[in-house]
Parts: sequence; structure tokens; C-alpha cells
Amino acid sequence: MDKKTLKEIETKLEAEKVQLEGQLAAFTHRNPKNKDDFNAEFPQIGDKEDENAAEVETYSTNLTLERTLEAALRDVKKTLERITKGTYGVCKYCGKEIDAKRLLARPTSSACIECKKRLTQEA
Ligand SMILES: [Zn+2]
Repeated sequence: MDKKTLKEIETKLEAEKVQLEGQLAAFTHRNPKNKDDFNAEFPQIGDKEDENAAEVETYSTNLTLERTLEAALRDVKKTLERITKGTYGVCKYCGKEIDAKRLLARPTSSACIECKKRLTQEA
């Protein structure tokens, strides 16, 4: 892959990382012992019964969102590490280079289209 494309992908990933961290910061606390772990805050709406129910509902929605965002952030960070190490853009299954168009569309891809297809069919 040429340096220009790689740089473009890196910029996209950095922007995505900032965005994900921002989204997480809105309703979670970062675990002080593990900076990659976020904990959803329990919302404080009020003490009435319906307010308590709303708190539980919001919390449960936030937990799901927290896991989704956390997983996405981990993917982005791992991908940035691969760029730093120079192992980015290589399929983790067959070791072939992943098509640049695929990477531009989905920068966190770590498998080539052929392997992805094969795995999806097996699953
Ligand atoms: Zn492959």
C-alpha cells in the first residue's frame, strides 16, 4: 500500500478514535486501573417509581451502547497499533495484502474479502 493511502486511513482512524472516546465520555467513567475500560454511570433522574424505572431502562441501554462503543474503540486502537508496527493491511488468515479499496471503506478490516467470505460461509 502506498504511503498516501496509509496516511489517509490513519487520519480516519484517529478521527474515529476521538469520536468514540467523546461518545463514551458522555455517559461513562474511565476505569482508573484500565484506561481501555469504561463503566456506564447509573443515571440519576429522580426518586419516584416511574423515574426509577426510567433510570434502570436508561442504564441498560447505556450498558449495551458502552459495550458496542468499547469494542469499536478497541478495534480502532488495535488497527492504529498495526499501522505503527507496519503490519497493517495484511490479512490475518492468509497473509496476503488486503485490497486498498476495502481498507478505505472499512479501515479496521483485518481479513481479506476471500477469507471473510470463507469464514462467513462456515459460520
Ligand atoms: Zn485472507
